Amino acid sequence: MNSKFIFILSSLFFTIILSIFVLIYVPFLSGFFIYDFFQLVLIILLIVISVWTLQTILTVTLLWYNKKAPRFMKKSTKKFLVLLFPLLEWTGDLWRMNKDYIRQAYMDLNNELVLREKYKFEPKDILVMSPHCLQNSSCQYKVTNDINNCRKCGKCNVDNLLQLQEKYGINLRIVSGGTLARMAIKEVRPKAIVAVACERDLVSGLNDIRHIPVVAVINQRPNGPCIDTSVDIDEVERAIQSLL
Ligand code: SF4
Repeated sequence: MNSKFIFILSSLFFTIILSIFVLIYVPFLSGFFIYDFFQLVLIILLIVISVWTLQTILTVTLLWYNKKAPRFMKKSTKKFLVLLFPLLEWTGDLWRMNKDYIRQAYMDLNNELVLREKYKFEPKDILVMSPHCLQNSSCQYKVTNDINNCRKCGKCNVDNLLQLQEKYGINLRIVSGGTLARMAIKEVRPKAIVAVACERDLVSGLNDIRHIPVVAVINQRPNGPCIDTSVDIDEVERAIQSLL
């Protein structure tokens, strides 16, 4: 977590306050009842979002300083991220911030919220999911159907993930998209997930999977997006350990 994320949240908060101010003080464009009604609804909605944003700023600050945040605040912050993240991206755009940077801050905050819960799951209830682009592009073995097709040649991180699977007894799937990811979740029925992917896919995955904790691990893309990617295996292992 970092100060720039709090800066974006604060920018959003002040933008909303400014909008409320404009809505209240700009003369009514017309005297029609319907306009007055929508203006009132919009003002109430903006007030609710501003209070919610303020509460999220407070929660992030508490977590940042390693202080205890009440459970309801953590829950509310999770919901805020899922529902209002597009607003944060929009605010980041206003400040010309890199989208991935904001998404990384989201992942950091999500992981902090999950780790604070100090979950204790059985290995069989944990699913590690990684994208297909982790597999070496010249490999002929189809690991999305069955990961055991991997020959463990060491040319890509699929080999390392299999070693983690053997070491901890967790479930492991290599998926080529959202549909396969959803199928894997349906099949394994995990109680927690360690998701490896790029920032964009992790944001959409976190928005899809709301009912169970997800620890996000951002992949590395030395060859550009979606080809021969890699992952910090130590980070994946730490994520697994944090759920056990
Ligand atoms: S480690 Fe497995 S998936 Fe990766 S290149 Fe070797 S055989 Fe293919």
